[in-house]
Amino acid sequence: MVATVNIVGAGIFGLSLAVELKKNGYNVTVFDKNNYAEDEYRNFEVQAASVDQNKIFRASYGKKLHYQRLAMEARDRWEKLGNGLFVASGMLRVQPTEDLGSLEQETIANMTRDGLREMLFVKGHADDEARAKQQGWFEKILKFSIPGEQQNKEFGAVLDTTAGFTKCSAACYYYYCLAKDLGVQFVFGVDAGNFDSLIKEETENGGSAVVGLRTKNGSEHRADTTVIAAGSFSTQLLPELAYHLESSAGSVARFEIDPQDVFLWDKYSPEKFPVITWKRRARDGAGKDVGSVYVFPRTEEGIVKIGYRGVKYTHFQPAPANSTFSQDNQWSIPASPEIKPPQVALDAIQEFVSIFLPELKDVPFYSTKFCWYTDSLDNEFVVDHVPQYANNSCFVCTGGSGHAAKFLPVLGEHAVDIFVHGENAKTPLRPFWRWRTDVERKNGLEEGPSGPRNLAK
Ligand SMILES: Cc1cc2nc3c(=O)[nH]c(=O)nc-3n(C[C@H](O)[C@H](O)[C@H](O)COP(=O)(O)OP(=O)(O)OC[C@H]3O[C@@H](n4cnc5c(N)ncnc54)[C@H](O)[C@@H]3O)c2cc1C
Repeated sequence: MVATVNIVGAGIFGLSLAVELKKNGYNVTVFDKNNYAEDEYRNFEVQAASVDQNKIFRASYGKKLHYQRLAMEARDRWEKLGNGLFVASGMLRVQPTEDLGSLEQETIANMTRDGLREMLFVKGHADDEARAKQQGWFEKILKFSIPGEQQNKEFGAVLDTTAGFTKCSAACYYYYCLAKDLGVQFVFGVDAGNFDSLIKEETENGGSAVVGLRTKNGSEHRADTTVIAAGSFSTQLLPELAYHLESSAGSVARFEIDPQDVFLWDKYSPEKFPVITWKRRARDGAGKDVGSVYVFPRTEEGIVKIGYRGVKYTHFQPAPANSTFSQDNQWSIPASPEIKPPQVALDAIQEFVSIFLPELKDVPFYSTKFCWYTDSLDNEFVVDHVPQYANNSCFVCTGGSGHAAKFLPVLGEHAVDIFVHGENAKTPLRPFWRWRTDVERKNGLEEGPSGPRNLAK
């Protein structure tokens, strides 16, 4: 008999897994409270990290070679798709000072090790600049003066031509259509597609197995395995995840450029303008990246998006009694969409704009919003069977930690390997993505409700 799988969440994780499970012969149904069949992933007010015009594609991961390699595997796949969902605009990594920071040096060393050095161009490096001129990249090694410096010093920078961006919403819609064509069933909507609860049954030896799920309209959907892939909402659906994950908010602001403004339209096009990331400060004593801001080239509609991840805001609320982990009886979950980024985050974005997009310095934002991360305790994803439930009946596929969108074309293949083979999976990601309540909570998750990032204080 064909094994049946319910997946909750039709974002990057749910879609990628659904496609691969279906290819592996499973009978798959995906549930989502948003109706993506109707809005085609284009309602940018929706609270799902995957619903977004663009996300950075990068293979630069410092010492984390496993993600560098996964990213290059994904890049190859994006290129083979050949449908423009990946744009190789390049990414200029601007440093906090004139010099290259330690993370940048680690990245260059690891990219050199994997034969990618030729795709990097260090500003001011004669050989690199000559090569950039030959290959048509030189105009994208943009130069920015360090404000307040007497001698007109410039920020150090590296143009990384392995990088660029993906058209995230369009890619999700593409994968949704692909999944549907393969025969994956989708149940959408605030009633029919909205997860209510797991259906559990006691096993012969007194354990508990998940035998399906209930949706808000009262329907029951039985399946051999139920997968939680609900992004920043995952802990609320499966409180057993509470030790692993924390929802936190990134601040996003957008400008709109008028196509009639030929100068700006041209200057900020992906052909002329790379993704730019700027580390406002060097890494802190704990090695944590603090204060980075990034901007994308304009979209076809003229939207220029800027993100600030210097502070990822938490939103602590009372944790439910069945939560397996809480801090002062609280946990951080997404706030309602009416809650907007605080002035301090907008000020950081404005500072970035004044240096990197000077023409937009006095232009009001077109929109601002929070976009919710699903941070894991160590920035690794969480893809595994949930040990509390018998018969491999409950699986999780989440914990994107702000960097999973780029992996859409390959994530599912690695996740299916774990889904099918568990401990014996061959993917090199298995040890990183396993259920790991034995690992210390770091990555900011140790702060709790009294920490400085809590919006609800
Ligand atoms: C600010 C920000 C910037 C980022 N930048 C990048 C980047 O530059 N590059 C990159 O690679 N990655 C980036 N990421 C990470 C990437 O966007 C995420 O890792 C990825 O989109 C997460 O996908 P997901 O499927 O886990 O979650 P989501 O996209 O949130 O999808 C989860 C789905 O579950 C559904 N759901 C929730 N609750 C229920 C329920 N009760 N019933 C039914 N359905 C439900 C939601 O509607 C949603 O559709 C960024 C993330 C953020 C927040």
